[in-house]
Amino acid sequence: MTTTAIIVAAGRGTRAGGDLPKQWQALRGKPVAAHAMARLAAHPHVDALVLVLHPDDLDSDLWPRVPAAIVATGGETRAASVRNGLAAVPTGTTRVLIHDAARPLLSQAIIDRVLAALDHAPGAAPAVAVTDTLWHGDGGAVTGIADRTRLFRAQTPQGFHLGPLLAAHAAARGDETDDVAVARAAGLDVAIVAGEEDNIKITTPEDFARAEKLMGDRMDIRVGNGYDVHRFGDGDHVWLCGVQVPHSRSLQGHSDADVGMHAVTDAIYGALGKGDIGQHFPPSDPQWKGAASHIFLDHAVALAAQHGYAISNADCTLVCEYPKIGPHQDAMKAVMGAYMKLDSSRISVKATTSERLGFTGREEGIAALATVTLVKT
Ligand code: MG
Repeated sequence: MTTTAIIVAAGRGTRAGGDLPKQWQALRGKPVAAHAMARLAAHPHVDALVLVLHPDDLDSDLWPRVPAAIVATGGETRAASVRNGLAAVPTGTTRVLIHDAARPLLSQAIIDRVLAALDHAPGAAPAVAVTDTLWHGDGGAVTGIADRTRLFRAQTPQGFHLGPLLAAHAAARGDETDDVAVARAAGLDVAIVAGEEDNIKITTPEDFARAEKLMGDRMDIRVGNGYDVHRFGDGDHVWLCGVQVPHSRSLQGHSDADVGMHAVTDAIYGALGKGDIGQHFPPSDPQWKGAASHIFLDHAVALAAQHGYAISNADCTLVCEYPKIGPHQDAMKAVMGAYMKLDSSRISVKATTSERLGFTGREEGIAALATVTLVKT
């Protein structure tokens, strides 16, 4: 099952004030759309992002400041923009989440609920039940009270199985206001899952202040450190930060002994206050013998997302005389970035010798230290 999130950012809405469409205005230092995209990208079951842009924005310097995504060009209407986004999803996509770029506060829990509901329905979308009394009014006076039972305020992300939604869009009239309307017109069931009051859509200037306050209230940054050592033994290569480096010796360990990846993984567990690799993957358990260490890192990254944290950056230092790390640094950053769903500019892999002192200086083994920051999403 492969899930692609489509972020619809092709609108020109300027009701929020300012010269730029609201999704490109800054919210806590980055574009509104970047917040929504980062939260979708951080979810362990979201595999790819498609960003639908207004044609005028294709050459702008705004959207490159958002997380990496496949770019599609928006159409005349919202439905046309979504259709272009659907046409751009990577091969193998079976489910899509369609999200409004102007909702920067979606939570991991909302994404969880939408995806879980898709196990039982072709469509699912978050909504909040209307609790205020609804009036009819005319000329400044109340003329009646509307029945609010069974009324909901719709939110995004709206989730669908790809095939049925493509068919629904192909048959749509084009004036539908959202994908739930498109799906229902085609006879698809759309399950309602619990939305959240904080999942606001930025429309007016006041909404920016409200979103900043909500983000400020939830500001939660965590730091973890990791330290690991593996000894040298016979062999002709070492695994370091996911890269196989030729060497006259190999590192010994229960797994592939990737000391750098272990330190980074332990730093994530440390920031979460959730133990360490040895606790999650006991060396006494034969199933982890010779295991590729990215299994441990994948687990820690998923655990962070499960607890509502996105990894902000990671810094790893390898301590050894040999092999030389410099020629492999870029590859290590790229591999670690892929496992951590992070741009490699947010990952540092550096190396130092210990001036021939101690066990690393005597080339008996390699040590690694790592620091990772997590940010509550
Ligand atoms: Mg280790």
